[in-house]
Amino acid sequence: MFNSILLNNKSFAGLISILLLCLFFVSCKASPTENPEGNKQTIVERFGVIHTDGNKIVDKNGNTVALHGMSLFWSQWMPQYYNADCVKWLYEDWNCTVVRAAMAVEAGGYLTNPAAEMAKVKAVIDACIKVGIYVIVDWHDHNAELHREQAVSFFKEIATQYGDKPNLIYEIYNEPIHSSWKNDVKPYAEEVIQNIRAVDPDNLIIVGSPTWSQDVDIAAADPILYNNIAYSLHFYSATHKQELRNKAAAALNRGAALFVSEFGTCESSGTGIIDYQELDRWYSFIKTNNLSTCNWSIADKDETSAALKPGASGKGNWSDEQLTVSGKYVKAKIKELNKTHFNNAE
Ligand code: MG
Repeated sequence: MFNSILLNNKSFAGLISILLLCLFFVSCKASPTENPEGNKQTIVERFGVIHTDGNKIVDKNGNTVALHGMSLFWSQWMPQYYNADCVKWLYEDWNCTVVRAAMAVEAGGYLTNPAAEMAKVKAVIDACIKVGIYVIVDWHDHNAELHREQAVSFFKEIATQYGDKPNLIYEIYNEPIHSSWKNDVKPYAEEVIQNIRAVDPDNLIIVGSPTWSQDVDIAAADPILYNNIAYSLHFYSATHKQELRNKAAAALNRGAALFVSEFGTCESSGTGIIDYQELDRWYSFIKTNNLSTCNWSIADKDETSAALKPGASGKGNWSDEQLTVSGKYVKAKIKELNKTHFNNAE
């Protein structure tokens, strides 16, 4: 009778196997890559401070590294996504290795509410440090040369508090529009960089270029002579095509490192169609050149480029039904591009 309630050896072994399998699947949700010794490392522990080596971005061991993740939306308009739960979800469910905090400067941003905007950025930085991924601190401005003093003050504080953390990446000018590289953007960048480097000698700094960070060839022809500088390359696939890839190729050929800190699947307005054919061409270019990417954006605005449908929670935990067409496409791309960094069961 007693024996009858005991599992026989065979079924006991089967039960253990199922339990172990369950544990495997649970533990494998976004668990970081194991090093050769079998110890789990976070993404940032594995790659350390990333830096430029000619036109490449490499990890602490000198190996080429490409990060793929999401940009948050303008901080003053979508503050609900600037929190630890959202970042954790982007890491665990989307397998992002980088999140970009797009801190608004004008239009009700840092210029008018510096403490509130700084707090949002720090919440995202702290969250990225906690899960062990990279964070881009983006001065999301179209007229940054008019706000030098504020930018210097902002980045000095960020560098002082976080400059010793390998997670940190600075993006000091989102998208200059009509400014001149030589007369406006470069002098601004040099002043901000000088102040960052006085505190933080090593973390990567991304610099924008005129025409919405598309004139990377112009920047590459007259580069900034500080260490560890990359240039942002922004594109929207239904608007920017081979002509922009030619400019990017020219910049790479001149030895500039590029970082796609913002791109959209649709038109540059954030609306319109998703251009899949052009996205294929862009991803081919990105893979060939080992470029890093952040997609625009984590937002629930009713527009094509938003990854979330209206009303999606600020705390993550989104079902596939709550993702837009663009959101589903980009999430799948991120998971595919980052798959070697995660021991996912799927
Ligand atoms: Mg540092």
